Amino acid sequence: MTCIFCDIVNKKIPSDIIFENDALVAFHDIRPKAPVHALIVPKKHVASVNEFTTEDAPIIAALMFAAPVVAEALGVKDGYKIAFNVGRKGGQLIDHVHMHVLAWPDSPEGKKEVAPI
Ligand code: AMP
Ligand code: ZN
Repeated sequence: MTCIFCDIVNKKIPSDIIFENDALVAFHDIRPKAPVHALIVPKKHVASVNEFTTEDAPIIAALMFAAPVVAEALGVKDGYKIAFNVGRKGGQLIDHVHMHVLAWPDSPEGKKEVAPI
């Protein structure tokens, strides 16, 4: 099976890594949809949020705990959005779970409406 995010996790293709631990890798989105746009990807291949099982609970927790770590590393901990696209109709193009971390640090009032990610 070919999966671009497994290839990034396994360092078979390059990425601009922000943070990494035993459970996940965070890197900059190659086509950012916001001034700050990172992806947090579990090292385990899970196709989408729909495929998570109860045994993946530690991975889900790791994703959530990584969000503020990544936001802090990018200097946006005071305001950011996190999102998962699920399925084609939800805008998901890559079938390996990933959390989007988006921020608009130069927008004084923050960003209340977001174009499709
Ligand atoms: P989604 O539409 O939720 O599946 O999001 C996939 C995201 O992965 C998009 O925002 C893409 O710009 C991003 N992306 C695709 N290929 C790469 C890559 N090689 N490195 C970093 N981000 C990528
Ligand atoms: Zn994968």
